[in-house]
Amino acid sequence: MPTLAKHTAEKNDPFEIHRKRLFDLRARLSGEMQNMADAALNQGRSESSSLPIHMADLGSDNFEQELTLTLVGSEKEVLNRIDFALERMRDGSYGKCEDCGKKIPETRLEAIPYTSVCVQCAELQEQNREEE
Ligand SMILES: [Zn+2]
Repeated sequence: MPTLAKHTAEKNDPFEIHRKRLFDLRARLSGEMQNMADAALNQGRSESSSLPIHMADLGSDNFEQELTLTLVGSEKEVLNRIDFALERMRDGSYGKCEDCGKKIPETRLEAIPYTSVCVQCAELQEQNREEE
């Protein structure tokens, strides 16, 4: 019996890998935020677990580096960006730069799957931030 093509065709999803990584990262960050909240309540209990997140199987060095840098910033913001990226996957705008509309290079998406801007626009945003 023929079935109508569903628009959630996972097989043809070009962003399946990124989606999985986003979900994975989101789960880790959510868990980590909870852990940190717990840790804040029980200060100094486990000194051996100083790593902010378990990174053993997260993939590329680039990704780990970015993630580490980002973790120093705001986990909450990253979570928001992950949700936003997943939202953009649903509406089909994922992979396009939010600012200039150009395609975000695959290598950048591999490094930061939750990014919504290209390298150039990200740098511009950084500069603007520094000028404030
Ligand atoms: Zn751009």
